Amino acid sequence: MYINSKLPNVGTTIFTVMSRLATEHQAINLGQGFPDYPMSRELTGLVAKAMNEDYNQYSPMPGWMPLREAIAEKSALLYGASLNPDTDITITPGGTYAIYTALTTILQQGDEVIVFEPAYDSYIPNIEVNGAKAVTISLVYPDYHIDWEAVKAAVTPRTKAIILNSPHNPTGSVIRERDIESLRKLVADSGLFIISDEVYEHLIFDGIPHLSMLRYPDLLERSFVCFSFGKTYHCTGWKLGYCIAPAAMTTEFRKVHQFNCFSCFTPAQVALAEFLKNKEAYLSLSAEMQERRDYFKQLMQETRFSMQESYGSYFICGTYERISDEPDKDLAIRLTKEFGVATIPVSVFYRSGKDDHVLRFCFSKKKETLEAAVEKLIRI
Ligand code: PMP
Ligand code: GLN
Repeated sequence: MYINSKLPNVGTTIFTVMSRLATEHQAINLGQGFPDYPMSRELTGLVAKAMNEDYNQYSPMPGWMPLREAIAEKSALLYGASLNPDTDITITPGGTYAIYTALTTILQQGDEVIVFEPAYDSYIPNIEVNGAKAVTISLVYPDYHIDWEAVKAAVTPRTKAIILNSPHNPTGSVIRERDIESLRKLVADSGLFIISDEVYEHLIFDGIPHLSMLRYPDLLERSFVCFSFGKTYHCTGWKLGYCIAPAAMTTEFRKVHQFNCFSCFTPAQVALAEFLKNKEAYLSLSAEMQERRDYFKQLMQETRFSMQESYGSYFICGTYERISDEPDKDLAIRLTKEFGVATIPVSVFYRSGKDDHVLRFCFSKKKETLEAAVEKLIRI
């Protein structure tokens, strides 16, 4: 049977490609972003308890209410947001799904969406599958800040939305107050939506505050703000997250959501509603991850990679001008096969394949894993 592909230019995601290659060559996997250490036993215990207490049937379509209430409380505490858990919060099977659903909710054929590159690899296919067009703007190398003049110049009457991601995957850059001011000016009196990917909200370092769209009522009124429990609680395999948006936008979002997955895994929602009461569990995450970043950065000084800054996420990028001038994809493959360490080549996050010779390393790993990886990387 012939399928007229909706995504003719899309292959298999780099995360699958590199993880598969890592397994094949028994390489240490600093590619795909996930921790290699155990998640909280208290939280897994709460899920087991929920299952044993028979919270095993469909939860309500927008999500388990006590969990939505806990999210509203947390959003008020951290960002001063005043949210109605009934109308503004929807639990989703992961952050990626929340972003996809938000895009599907708003996009019509021929619409344009502004995307910053390097971009998390789901954004552009999510736009294109909806018959819309991604208008890409490169973050300014090497510190990956946003060129707001370029953004202004890219806006057309067809521009429907702008996707933001802070802390940023793959670069570890974060948005600052000056970015918020520029964003405010850009969207004021416009019909532009903001899709804000904030899955790394708690992974932000050096005392920098996370500038969530939830802090700014004039931005929140046009935002779908997307989060992931996977990143916050070291359970990426759970694929559970949520989307916060004003009531009228959430109504439309739920029209799409209800006929896609309808509702999410109930026992984990019941457990998270309880676990969210423990503020320390998410507040302590920045310090924990900053320690891993610092440790990895220090270890990497022994290699010939030049590490860039990472202010957030669990990624740090490095260039390799002292090693070779080969394309980043070639080096990533060679490192995996010949040296036993998998990474992610950053050029895959540019539609054009723009190659600044940068590799992304994931440092949300046990110290022993980081040490073993660096021992191998020193040899190149
Ligand atoms: N956005 C970014 C930038 C990410 O790195 C991830 C993690 N994979 C996600 C969204 C999606 O998270 P989830 O696994 O909850 O879909
Ligand atoms: N967010 C993770 C990363 O960037 C992995 C996501 C995925 O495998 N789809 O590595």
